[in-house]
Amino acid sequence: MKAVARHWHVIDEENKRVECDLCPHHCKLRDGQYGICGVRKNEGGKLVTFTYGTLVSAAVDPIEKKPLYHFLPGHATFTIATPGCNFKCLGCQNWEISQVPPKVAEKTPMFLETFIPPEAVVEKAIETGCKSISFSYTEPTIYFEYMLDIARLAKQRGLKTVMVSNAFIEEKPLEELLEVIDAFAYDLKFFSDEAYRKYAKGRLEPVLRTIKRSFEAGKWIEITTLLVPQYLDEKQIEDIAHWIRDELAPWVPWHVSRFFPYYKAQDLPPTPMEMIEFAVKTGKEAGLYYVYAGNIPHTDWENTYCPECGELLIERFGYTLKSYNLKPGGICPKCGRKIEGVFE
Ligand code: SF4
Repeated sequence: MKAVARHWHVIDEENKRVECDLCPHHCKLRDGQYGICGVRKNEGGKLVTFTYGTLVSAAVDPIEKKPLYHFLPGHATFTIATPGCNFKCLGCQNWEISQVPPKVAEKTPMFLETFIPPEAVVEKAIETGCKSISFSYTEPTIYFEYMLDIARLAKQRGLKTVMVSNAFIEEKPLEELLEVIDAFAYDLKFFSDEAYRKYAKGRLEPVLRTIKRSFEAGKWIEITTLLVPQYLDEKQIEDIAHWIRDELAPWVPWHVSRFFPYYKAQDLPPTPMEMIEFAVKTGKEAGLYYVYAGNIPHTDWENTYCPECGELLIERFGYTLKSYNLKPGGICPKCGRKIEGVFE
């Protein structure tokens, strides 16, 4: 549904030019022009969004799928998405719904006629027994207004809220989200501005700023790095591990995930196992307490161990929990160490 957007300003009244301030692209738009995300447009000197309430995906997921391993493990999260993204990742797995060319959101009857009010999303989450609502699959930043309205309602109804994001958002809208989002699963794709620009049409610095600010605001965050061959090298993997340790904390979970070729990255190979092993080893040698490897058949790298005594605390099989041995409050049953995370 079309709605007036938030976080923009007029730059030329006479010629009806506006600038969008939602994400670091800061698209400067003439009347009739669309932003990079393809779902926001200057209409007669006002910025509008075409995806308020336009759900393209809604599902009950395990929270482990986000991935969040230390945020109420094993709970079901009602996960939604509207179309669009402010990145153009060559290997996007959800490109059918994330990469919306300009005019599609405005002209596609399914998009125009679909309107699921925020109240209905919250009701459905409660009805399906979910403890949280997750904003995921595409990039939630570009449906900021809808996400914010849902998250506010969700808080009133006692639900937790989760944002799965590329972290490419401006500071002001982020501050609003920090009031109502409980946990963030952030992508830190590369540690090279050049790689960000080439692979995703993004930039590194705003991503680091967003992650750090969210951490400092006391939110629960976990970081995911998709191991994209040729764009991500060993130096970047080391830099990411060190950055998490030094700028966040060694207890922030780091998920390294296997890449498979999709969309416009069919020329790249899947991540070689040696690269996954290198990333896990690098994370551990950097002193990170919780390093996980995803998108690979069941290995020990999906389990949680106590960093103090080595006790197996949470055993996973894909997205399901095989065993859960933490005591109430996230306490290791063997040595009594408090495990970092949100456990009740
Ligand atoms: S949200 Fe969309 S329109 Fe706004 S700056 Fe980002 S890409 Fe451009």
